[in-house]
Amino acid sequence: MPTRKAVVLGISTLVAAIMVATAVGSYAVWVTSGDYADRLVAVGDVMVASTLLLTAIAVAVGVAAYQVTVEAPELEPEITFRCSEPNRPVFLVEPEPRRRRHRLVRFRQVEASVRIHNRGSASARNPAMRIDLLGLGGVRPQLEWRPTDWSNHLGVHAVQWDGGANLAIHGNGTRVLPDLSFENVFALSDHDAEFALQVTLAAEGFRRVHTLAVDLRTRDAYSAYCRERAAQYEDGPPLPDTCGVEECDRQAAVRLLVLHPEHGPRELAACRDCADGHEDFQRLPSLRIVDNRDRRIA
Ligand SMILES: [Zn+2]
Repeated sequence: MPTRKAVVLGISTLVAAIMVATAVGSYAVWVTSGDYADRLVAVGDVMVASTLLLTAIAVAVGVAAYQVTVEAPELEPEITFRCSEPNRPVFLVEPEPRRRRHRLVRFRQVEASVRIHNRGSASARNPAMRIDLLGLGGVRPQLEWRPTDWSNHLGVHAVQWDGGANLAIHGNGTRVLPDLSFENVFALSDHDAEFALQVTLAAEGFRRVHTLAVDLRTRDAYSAYCRERAAQYEDGPPLPDTCGVEECDRQAAVRLLVLHPEHGPRELAACRDCADGHEDFQRLPSLRIVDNRDRRIA
């Protein structure tokens, strides 16, 4: 691609050349034509040809400028909760029958990293992302995610991040947004449609809505999901932590979520031997969770 400066210089040179050629051509036909009337006609012809050429250049420049203004960015969301695949949130929930809802169990599963990818070549100016929770609510206030919709029985159920007029996401670039927490979020038991996150991405000249299904699982179903992921990422690198079991100082290899009936969920990193054999993990229900930030999925 030629630079803008080169294009402007090229067009100016072309226009100047046409003007010079017109002047030279007019002089040439003036001195070589026969009588006065013939000379006038010939110079007129040269002028018409020159005007046509200049008009053609003006139209081409106009079309090129229009193309630049209609070129739009192509934005895609990436919302990765720490224990789910990107854009496919799966949550462990606990029923709260008296309140007719399911609560998202509070551990690292509720923390999400959020990005916007611009797959187009045009810059995305003034970008924004709005997330509407369908069938879920109770998002707590947090930095840079402004509540945009709420109701009495759901609490906050839509939040928005605004990049502002001075921010742009480069063509084929990625913008990392502030982390988003779903701590305190719950799902309505009597919601009769799909649980989902409706993600609206907007920028100058662009607007698109993506719907990400949310998979809510109680303990047994979530445990099956954990086994699948643990098998999938078994060959990953060891964790940065040492084994959390007393008197064991080996490198940790797995993360466990111990579901204590009284003290609630507790996260622990353990070496493979302890995770397989230690009596604490046999006695209490424990799930092997995989944190994307350990495995660098996102
Ligand atoms: Zn150990």
